[in-house]
Amino acid sequence: MPVVKDVLLQLLFSLMPFVAYNIYYGKLTTNYSRSFIMVICSLCLLLSMTFASSVESGLIFDVRYVIIFFGMLFGGVETGAILLVEFLIYRLYIGGSGMVDAIMILVFTFPLSVLLSLMYQRSKHKVWIVFIAGISFSFIPLIIIYLTKPDYIMEYFLFNILAIPVTNSLGIWLLVTLFNKSVSDKELYLRYTQNEKAEAVNHVAASLAHEVRNPLTTVLGFLQLIKSGTFSQEKTERFLDISMDEIRRTEQILSEYLAISKPHLPFQQRIELTTETKSVVELMTSYANMSNVTLSADYPESPVYISGSPAELKQLLVNFIKNAIEACKDVDNGMVNITVHEETDQVTVEIKDNGVGMTPEQLSRLGSIYYSTKMNGTGLGLTFSYQAIQAMNGSVSVRSSPRSGTVFLITLPHADQHL
Ligand code: ADP
Ligand code: MG
Repeated sequence: MPVVKDVLLQLLFSLMPFVAYNIYYGKLTTNYSRSFIMVICSLCLLLSMTFASSVESGLIFDVRYVIIFFGMLFGGVETGAILLVEFLIYRLYIGGSGMVDAIMILVFTFPLSVLLSLMYQRSKHKVWIVFIAGISFSFIPLIIIYLTKPDYIMEYFLFNILAIPVTNSLGIWLLVTLFNKSVSDKELYLRYTQNEKAEAVNHVAASLAHEVRNPLTTVLGFLQLIKSGTFSQEKTERFLDISMDEIRRTEQILSEYLAISKPHLPFQQRIELTTETKSVVELMTSYANMSNVTLSADYPESPVYISGSPAELKQLLVNFIKNAIEACKDVDNGMVNITVHEETDQVTVEIKDNGVGMTPEQLSRLGSIYYSTKMNGTGLGLTFSYQAIQAMNGSVSVRSSPRSGTVFLITLPHADQHL
């Protein structure tokens, strides 16, 4: 049974590059580099040789050929050569009766690895090349050891004929297949995000031009009418009012766009949440009255501190409250309630309304750029707000059903003491 343990341990070492790749590159927006392959393979080689299996003192077995071959496939022949040097130095240091055999084996396996890795880059039948590598790395050592120490091979026949081929073939096959799968998934993801980004930029530019042009055309039309001087004072005033509304709307569109494209600065400030929320609620009260909606709020008794940018916090609260009021516009007894609540390890702001609510389909699109169900909506408010909350290390959850209203729950961490 110790043999099984040895095989499993060596398989674990041979899978290390795959595991390390997923841990290290999991969240990065780049793919692996040659130096990563070199570092991780050197480490694996060292570990695999240090914890090698041995049935007779002086002869050790590990996944050296697997690692050298893998290093060559993904890091180039230079990486293979560095690994070879590392192996030679360490093997000479370990010493023992198997040392000469080990070097003789490498005289065959190293050039073979170079050849197979070159073939691998060009071939369509990559699986076959990996298979040939696994088999050769198992039987070349056996043949050479058989030539120099036939008794040894016979004495530990099962170990030699089973454990070594299984470790090498399975090791190389698993490592190359899994690594390739992760690398191609990553490539796909990177390509996808790049397309997304490019598309978003094009979209922003196109719709910005479109959205700004409409009000400008309207204003221009009214200015021409006013200039003609054929209208009464009252009419002229009305044209001016409309023009001013249009300009205000253009300004709002531009500032929402800017808020989205502006990076969320890492600079954080200690903010008292209740005071900020109170001022936003005050600001929004006239908008609520105009829309026939009752706006109310509940605050905790003691001050609540969070960290973030005060301007962004205000802007995002305005966005949520404005949406809630707009959702209640056409319902009887429209009500919006804001609750600031302090918990032991976090702070929450709840924005609750009894407005039109959302279907599961609408909910799933919430926060996507340009998603709006309103005639004059920009679909930018929530996109900005979600980004700003994320920048404050917070999160948002939402419950909603059509005709019964919506509850947004913003959760934010407490301010750090030292801020
Ligand atoms: P806009 O308000 O310009 O439409 P937002 O990003 O602020 O853009 O909101 C996107 C969409 O999310 C809205 O058009 C609306 O359909 C939906 N929504 C947001 N908040 C609410 C809410 N409280 N009740 C119902 N629908 C909401
Ligand atoms: Mg909005």
